Amino acid sequence: MIVIKVSDFEHLIGSKVFKNKPETCPHCYSKSMKDVELLGAYNGPLLWECDHCSIQLLRFSKETTNKHLGKLKDLHFDLEELDSICEGLPN
Ligand SMILES: [Zn+2]
Repeated sequence: MIVIKVSDFEHLIGSKVFKNKPETCPHCYSKSMKDVELLGAYNGPLLWECDHCSIQLLRFSKETTNKHLGKLKDLHFDLEELDSICEGLPN
C-alpha cells in the first residue's frame, strides 16, 4: 500500500480517467502500473501509479477523487494515530 499526501494530488497527470488500471504507462510505456490505495479515503485503489516514472493516474473523475481525498483532510491531524492503526493491520 502506498500513501500519498493530499498535496501530491496536484501532480496527477491531466484529468483523463482510467476506470481500469492501464496495462502500460501512458507516459513511459512501462508495464509496472500499480494500485494506489489511500487509507481512510476509499476502500480500494483510488489512483494508479507507474512504478517506473511515478506518474499517477486518476481512477475516478477529479471531482470524485477530491471528494474521497476530502475525507483524508479530517484525518490529517491524526497522522500519528493513523500510523499505529496501520501497524495493526495485516499486510
Ligand atoms: Zn511511467
